[in-house]
Amino acid sequence: METQSPQLTLLRIDGMSCAGCVRSVETALDSVPGVTLATVNFAGQTAAVTGTDNITDLIDAVQAVGYEASLFRDESVDHQELEAGLVLRRAMVKSALALIAALILMADMWLGLLPPLAEQSIWLTIGVATLVLMVYCGGQFYKGAWNALRHYSTTMDTLIALGTGTAWLYSMLVLLVPGLIPVQSHHQFFEAALFIIGFVGLGKALELNARTRSSLAIRKLFDMTPAYATLIGEAGDSLVPLEEIAAGQSVRIKPGENIPVDGKVLDGITTTNESMLTGESELVVKTYGSLVYAGTLNVEGSVVVEVNEVGESTRLAGISRLVSAAQNSKPAVAVLVDQITAVFVPIVLGLAVLTAALWLWLGPEPQLSYAIVTAMSVLIVACPCALGLAVPMSIMIGLGQAAKKGLLISNSNVLQMASKLDVMVLDKTGTLTMGKPDIVDSSGLTEQHLMQVHGLEIFSSHPLAQAIVQYCQGRNIAASDVSSFKNHVGGGVTGEADGRRLILGSPGFLKSQGIRNVPEIDAIGTIVSLGMDDQFIGYLLLQDKVRPETKAILQSLIKRGIQPIMLTGDREQVAKQVAAQVGIDEYHAEVSPDEKLIIIESLQSVGRCVGMVGDGINDAAALAQANVGFAMGLGTDIARESADVTLQGDSLNGIESTIKVSVKVLRNMHQNLFAAFAYNIVLIPVAAGLLYPSFNLLIDPALAGLAMALSSVTVVLNAGRLRSI
Ligand code: ADP
Ligand code: MG
Repeated sequence: METQSPQLTLLRIDGMSCAGCVRSVETALDSVPGVTLATVNFAGQTAAVTGTDNITDLIDAVQAVGYEASLFRDESVDHQELEAGLVLRRAMVKSALALIAALILMADMWLGLLPPLAEQSIWLTIGVATLVLMVYCGGQFYKGAWNALRHYSTTMDTLIALGTGTAWLYSMLVLLVPGLIPVQSHHQFFEAALFIIGFVGLGKALELNARTRSSLAIRKLFDMTPAYATLIGEAGDSLVPLEEIAAGQSVRIKPGENIPVDGKVLDGITTTNESMLTGESELVVKTYGSLVYAGTLNVEGSVVVEVNEVGESTRLAGISRLVSAAQNSKPAVAVLVDQITAVFVPIVLGLAVLTAALWLWLGPEPQLSYAIVTAMSVLIVACPCALGLAVPMSIMIGLGQAAKKGLLISNSNVLQMASKLDVMVLDKTGTLTMGKPDIVDSSGLTEQHLMQVHGLEIFSSHPLAQAIVQYCQGRNIAASDVSSFKNHVGGGVTGEADGRRLILGSPGFLKSQGIRNVPEIDAIGTIVSLGMDDQFIGYLLLQDKVRPETKAILQSLIKRGIQPIMLTGDREQVAKQVAAQVGIDEYHAEVSPDEKLIIIESLQSVGRCVGMVGDGINDAAALAQANVGFAMGLGTDIARESADVTLQGDSLNGIESTIKVSVKVLRNMHQNLFAAFAYNIVLIPVAAGLLYPSFNLLIDPALAGLAMALSSVTVVLNAGRLRSI
């Protein structure tokens, strides 16, 4: 399964500390020649780049703006987990250190253990120690701010660095040149600076933890392929590393083992659990000729499997790549958030300066002290760290959960769109119906004709064709040699055999191919007619079964206010019957693939948000045009590639779950954005001192740091709730 555009490069980016960094990295990557799209996922610390595969250029560009980049390697989950654990521990230790130091300082002050500021030598020692701790525990903020400054930009690090830097510098000025500063303003802010570093660092550490956990969770889900396989060689069985296994070889798979490769059962019988691919936990029976997939679990039997695909080309690997690319994609709302962040920091800097100026001018004594405290609080409280997390956290967890349910969502905009759908266009054959029809009549066709029909249909991937081929095989009807085969999407197939021109397909298609005497056939079911040269020969009558879940799904769509419309290339008669059977009021029969597309476009042009479900080549254009395209899991490759969501279990149930997941993720995302913004919007004026005149209320810079950490924690916890959907 092709799941990735050929030129998608995944990079791992290190050193990004906030949403502002995301923009710098994206701009840098965008400016590399050839790049068509670069999206950075802050939560996953990765970048997805399309348009070029010149890794060195990309890495250079990222380094030039002050971050580290490397090709995203699929390291083992264990290794990543270990590394993430170490990073987290280090971050926690650093924050704890800063907080403890701040607490000691504060406690000493309360207990009156510290001498007055005039005791220069003691205070200078404390000042220097504070600086050392600030740099050691909060180095990331200063580095980030410096990087941004070098490129004339600002990030959230700028706010933290400026806030704590001002606190320290001011305190040192008070100590070193007390004469410069009015006596009433002789205060030190060492502990405030340390508290800020400690709290903000703590928030970051928690954030980091949640981030790695959610990106690893999904990787873990897919990291089910064992590292070794039992190769059946001439000298008997031997356990060899998976890298040494190649397509065409045979491997033995024992009960309880995870299947290491994609392949075909040659011998034995077993049942497998494919829930990691399909979301369905019901066991699947595998016998001779059945396909098995890497990562699924072999439950009870022992089988010999011929290897088709191994490693990166297995279905599992494809799905895993698709999911990480989707987690990297940005929904429209994230772009908006980025734009807001870009202007937010400079605005806050302006506000901090304004606040300081107003306090100096209008404030009570000691003005300078108040000015410094309020400006510092504004800088710290405004830092929209949680903002950068709000959207990606929800998306990563939401898409991961969706994948567990067997929904492959290929881009995150689906989440935004799926909850707005008000029409669902459904294809008939293979979508509403099973696409595995029985042949109930073969009127007018001799064995010779059936051989020709067989010969034609082995070239086609249409569900009807597959049914016909199976029918012929079941009756030991050989396939004639067919030349100049041509597929006419949505109509039928043509070719030449035994020196005659063969036309096979719907009655309408036969007419369009110049067959003269096509009769009106009054029978229930889909008709596939055979024409030879310009003569009608006979037809096959096929009856398909409606999927068992169809009716219930359509009912619940209608309940959600989504109108179902059926489109089919099949005859009016069959369309009408199926529509009545499943409870659809509006249907269009005998529509060509182009017409499917046009119907969707016209629905969109009157402002409707259109979903489309299909399985065939004839649905691909419509799937791509729809606001959200759903492809059946066992549908054709091209349908899956054109769609936004692949329903892995090959059941319509996934449509409902996609909508449900989307609604929940979207709501979660909005809550997150609200939480992230609410703290800032509410606290900035308070920090600036707006409530001081009437309530005597100010925010201590240390408290501001705590509030900020809290906003990150709120977002992380809230997004975590999605794990239970
Ligand atoms: P749907 O829109 O319901 O999935 P299609 O557009 O794929 O149906 O097909 C429409 C009609 O064209 C079918 O009912 C069938 O009669 C004819 N047809 C298409 N492809 C084939 C084929 N490979 N062999 C026989 N008939 C075909
Ligand atoms: Mg179809």
